[in-house]
Amino acid sequence: MRIGYGWDSHEFREGVPLKIGGVALPFSKGLFGHSDGDVLLHALTDALLGAVAAGDIGSYFPPSDPKWKGADSVIFLEEALKQVRKAGFAVANMDSTLILAEPKIGPHSAKIQAHVAELLGIKPGQVGIKAKTPEGMGTDNAAIAHVAVLLERGTGPRNRSKKKQTRSNKSKR
Ligand SMILES: [Zn+2]
Repeated sequence: MRIGYGWDSHEFREGVPLKIGGVALPFSKGLFGHSDGDVLLHALTDALLGAVAAGDIGSYFPPSDPKWKGADSVIFLEEALKQVRKAGFAVANMDSTLILAEPKIGPHSAKIQAHVAELLGIKPGQVGIKAKTPEGMGTDNAAIAHVAVLLERGTGPRNRSKKKQTRSNKSKR
């Protein structure tokens, strides 16, 4: 098994669409910065890459490259999932905490949970979405995301050889 951890933050700006976990949320401001500013998907991408020691989001998609301006963050998540599979792992579950003053995440958390689960190919019951307000932190104009992931051996080459071994052991019996 492997554990991964990721963190990200973005600043709120007027006139930018808000996307969290790949879900568009109705709000007067959005998250400005790398790509579409999806703070949750960025932290998740880093958590997945970290779990298989495959670098970080910036090493695959440099923020300095104008190519990624406004890009859909699902592209980054898909690259991280590719690295996870390549290393022979699959996602067991993930947990997250969003820290932002506004908008309230509660009414949208089920939708975010279902969408992130779909992106990861796991069930909503394997995706934790929690949100807090930044009490005393002075980060009211930012959204912060913390993500932890757990990986288990997937259907990679190593796992397949293990299965083969089990089968040959059985046939010996
Ligand atoms: Zn980011």
